[in-house]
Amino acid sequence: MKKIFIASKNKGKINEIKSFLNPFGYEIFSLHDVHGIDDIPETGSTFEENALIKAKAVYDVVKIPVLSDDSGLLVDYLNGQPGVYSARYSGKNPTDEKNTALLLKNLSIAAEPERTAHFKCVIVLYDGLNERYFEGVCNGRISFEPKGNNGFGYDPVFIPDGYDKTFAELPSEIKNKISHRGLALRSLIKFIELENSM
Ligand code: IMP
Repeated sequence: MKKIFIASKNKGKINEIKSFLNPFGYEIFSLHDVHGIDDIPETGSTFEENALIKAKAVYDVVKIPVLSDDSGLLVDYLNGQPGVYSARYSGKNPTDEKNTALLLKNLSIAAEPERTAHFKCVIVLYDGLNERYFEGVCNGRISFEPKGNNGFGYDPVFIPDGYDKTFAELPSEIKNKISHRGLALRSLIKFIELENSM
């Protein structure tokens, strides 16, 4: 069975990635399955750089193909913030709740038309030799209050275009169909299927 390692501890991300890759018969590992890999500083200034930094650091230890997702929320009213800092937006010891609360605070005077935003996801697949990038973007807007219990991160305050519910209120099947990660993962799967057919 082919093995693949997800360079993340984020359970929300890992579950979404697994739901796409499981049907392909991969044995899937994540940073929850190994000890000895410390938190990898995300020193890059782009999603691409950070995804590759994590992929290479993990590959050096595990020596099996690594899939690394770097993603975030870019809010137009905040000139693209929190962007690559999405996970650590609220500073030291960040949590999803603190990040979301700060975002809503910083948008408190923004009216509905000014609350546009998009999620971006960059996935890199690194096998020690080659690095391949897959990308997805999902447009939407930021709600005025958190709603829903599904998903993770900013899901309770992100309303994707074409819907009137947040990602956290929508079933995971819908999020996976339209999300930034879903789109990036579908490109990855096309690539994997092509490789397997050769
Ligand atoms: P990373 O581990 O640096 O890629 O952190 C990504 C951060 O962006 C997460 O911790 C979330 O705060 C946010 N994020 C990325 N994708 C999603 C998503 O699908 N839903 C909600 N928040 C997300």
